[in-house]
Amino acid sequence: MKCAKDIHETILWPDLTPGCEIYEGGTSALTKTGEWRVVTPKWLQDKCKQCVLCAPFCPDSSIPVRDGRRTDFDYDHCKGCGICAQVCPFSAIEWKED
Ligand code: SF4
Ligand code: SF4
Repeated sequence: MKCAKDIHETILWPDLTPGCEIYEGGTSALTKTGEWRVVTPKWLQDKCKQCVLCAPFCPDSSIPVRDGRRTDFDYDHCKGCGICAQVCPFSAIEWKED
């Protein structure tokens, strides 16, 4: 059985799993979904009230929270969907095209 780490750009087709299926969990950390992003959110720390509302709304868990406080975006995995900017009640997330 192949692990997700064994399926990459240089693998030969006979070595792929049927349908490129992956048979294990917790593999999203291996995929840098940030490469898909065309718009990048920017955290405006001076406006942020640390309500931490943005973090649970992020579908990619790309707003790390440590000791009850949000920290800067995980740009390796933020897909730029814009949900965090929409839900922030204090306009503390700037939203503009790269
Ligand atoms: S929702 Fe806005 S104010 Fe609240 S923690 Fe996130 S960025 Fe800061
Ligand atoms: S733009 Fe989307 S993926 Fe990126 S941090 Fe905000 S909610 Fe998460």
